[in-house]
Amino acid sequence: MFESLSDRLGGVFDRLTKQGALSEDDVRTAMREVRVALLEADVSLEVARDFVKRVTAKATGAAVTKSITPGQQVIKIVHDELQNVLAGEEGLPPLKIDNPPSPILMVGLQGSGKTTTTGKLAKRLTEKEGKRVLMASLDVNRPAAMEQLAILGTQIGVDTLPIVPGQRPVDIAKRAKTQAALGGYDVYLLDTAGRLQIDQVLMDEVAQVHAAVQPRETLLVVDGLTGQVAVEVAQEFDAKVGVTGVVLTRMDGDGRGGAALSMRAVTGKPIRFVGMGEKMDALETFEPSRIAGRILGMGDIVSLVEKAQEVMEVEAQERMMKRFQKGLFNMNDLKAQLQQMQKMGGMEGMMGMMPGMGKMKKAIDGAGLDDSILKRQIALIDSMTKKERANPALLQASRKKRIAKGAGLEVSELNQLLKMQRQMGDMMKKMGKGGMLKKAMSMMG
Ligand code: GDP
Repeated sequence: MFESLSDRLGGVFDRLTKQGALSEDDVRTAMREVRVALLEADVSLEVARDFVKRVTAKATGAAVTKSITPGQQVIKIVHDELQNVLAGEEGLPPLKIDNPPSPILMVGLQGSGKTTTTGKLAKRLTEKEGKRVLMASLDVNRPAAMEQLAILGTQIGVDTLPIVPGQRPVDIAKRAKTQAALGGYDVYLLDTAGRLQIDQVLMDEVAQVHAAVQPRETLLVVDGLTGQVAVEVAQEFDAKVGVTGVVLTRMDGDGRGGAALSMRAVTGKPIRFVGMGEKMDALETFEPSRIAGRILGMGDIVSLVEKAQEVMEVEAQERMMKRFQKGLFNMNDLKAQLQQMQKMGGMEGMMGMMPGMGKMKKAIDGAGLDDSILKRQIALIDSMTKKERANPALLQASRKKRIAKGAGLEVSELNQLLKMQRQMGDMMKKMGKGGMLKKAMSMMG
């Protein structure tokens, strides 16, 4: 998968990295090519447009160090955005199967690879995670499908629920639940019936089963070869029955991979696994960072830029410390500090790590600082002008009102922020004199 996209992007970035300094035009041309490459990979128009917009914004605002070229910087930005598009910024928690017996509902259209994937997943959970797994087919319309699952079970050594003719899907699901509890299984997989198209009867059936077993994971199996159609199917299933994750099958046959790139952005649902063949072990977990790396094929540059960024952060910290020691502490400094706090898990986590910070903690507690407040305070700073950020003493009442409004907040919150900036400025100055600041900053790392 992704071969042709990878080739196309490779060409774009080869040209970029050959240049020393990049003009805005260079970036714009490159981004146009990236957009075309994405569209050719069958990424949805909206996702491609959004993607390019975000990369452009970051590329224009990015600070560049001497050790890397702007072209390399752009590649890193594209890499990170690819990762975001694939996984969302928050990353992917493990499957929710920690409460035995945990049901996993497998849903999807007929022919999507649902039964095959059920077998593959059962095998993976058994072999890789040491789970005891039970599988059950709910496809009462196609006895052959039930047989197929039973045969797969024998093949991979996973138990299947005995077939009882004449039962309704919801009854089979309940029987599977009971059997899984009695038999001491960790997980039971329910392979629901598919249809050639989404219809109400199918959805009602799935909804009934869903209500009966209340799965915390409902995995939708879709054919990755169908590109944007796969994304539409996912939207419909999600709207009707609620999906928690997606498995894209037949990714062994796809050179484009557009479905993978649009899925998360359009449906908000993570891709959990990709099917890479017909064999029972051809199921890969979907790892956004690896896939982003594979698409770009430029791992060396990405790690080079990461290192350079680390160096840059250290340099920036040192510069900031010098400013603090001189008693300079404006809104830009405060914003940097707030962002640092966000990164470190909020105020509580950070204050606990620093000796001698009790006083500052009190000042900040007074302002009622928690993580949502961090976000609001950063929003307030962002709605100030450059001049105001550099010298907040300039702020008149009318501007304060506008700024608070711009951030959707009250003036009182802005006043608190200003007070905090002054207090922290004073504190930094005092600490700078005693050498405490250096200690504290090095701990904030
Ligand atoms: P269901 O109707 O959704 O249950 O679909 P099946 O599981 O019966 O799969 C339909 C066909 O797709 C079978 O021939 C499978 O071997 C094949 N298939 C399933 N997953 C993959 C995959 O990831 N790659 C390839 N190449 N074929 C697959």
